[in-house]
Amino acid sequence: MSSSFKREEIICLFDVDGTLTKSRQKIHPTTEEFLLSKVKLVATIGLVGGSDLVKIAEQMGGADVINKFDYVFAENGLVAYKNGGLIGKMSIQEHVGEEKLQLFINSALSYMSKLKLPVKRGTFIEFRDGLVNVCPVGRSCSQAERDQFAAYDKDHRIREIFVKHLEAEFSDLGLVFSIGGQISFDVFPKGWDKTYALRFVEKDGYKEIHFFGDKTAPGGNDHEIYEDPRTIGHKVTCPEDTIQELKTLLHL
Ligand SMILES: [Mg+2]
Repeated sequence: MSSSFKREEIICLFDVDGTLTKSRQKIHPTTEEFLLSKVKLVATIGLVGGSDLVKIAEQMGGADVINKFDYVFAENGLVAYKNGGLIGKMSIQEHVGEEKLQLFINSALSYMSKLKLPVKRGTFIEFRDGLVNVCPVGRSCSQAERDQFAAYDKDHRIREIFVKHLEAEFSDLGLVFSIGGQISFDVFPKGWDKTYALRFVEKDGYKEIHFFGDKTAPGGNDHEIYEDPRTIGHKVTCPEDTIQELKTLLHL
């Protein structure tokens, strides 16, 4: 039984968006209170978010998040904090190499320059530590333009066809393409999904690693870590559901 473990023997890892917070919103004070004053007493706690640390801190109530949680893994763990200190940082340019990366970016820009869409705005490629985000309509579009692109993409499969093209051209780079949200897709090296974060907790010797996430189906960003043999996966639907799962698991 999980309840028989000491705090340092069991870890609960959480996706952020949709799991601890409602989609794109800040964490509710009662959820935070429950995690920090109940769960943290009996289990080690960590976040595994797909966003960068700035975005995670925004949703989790401030930069202090790295001290409140035992581990914070931003960008799927490519940026890793433990007890408030940075323990790992990896970047896509370091991994792929500038030359190949630039070939890829040039090809993506060239492809997009030939696309005809309802509207085009700015920021077609956004560079993050662990991934490149490619956005045919441009990330600076308005909400209405975003919705318009999403509908257009559904009919014309803009992203799907674009991804197939890049996959074929750069099959030797070991990249994964993930279509998510309404307007863009992410490109990152194979294995740089949320399971990347497990390398850090694995060596700290936990007897049970639990993971809670809302996008656990194939194609969802929690899928790989949820299915990973090293974790015990919990599929949740919202923060209230996460709290309920924790109460059952930890007998709170
Ligand atoms: Mg989520």
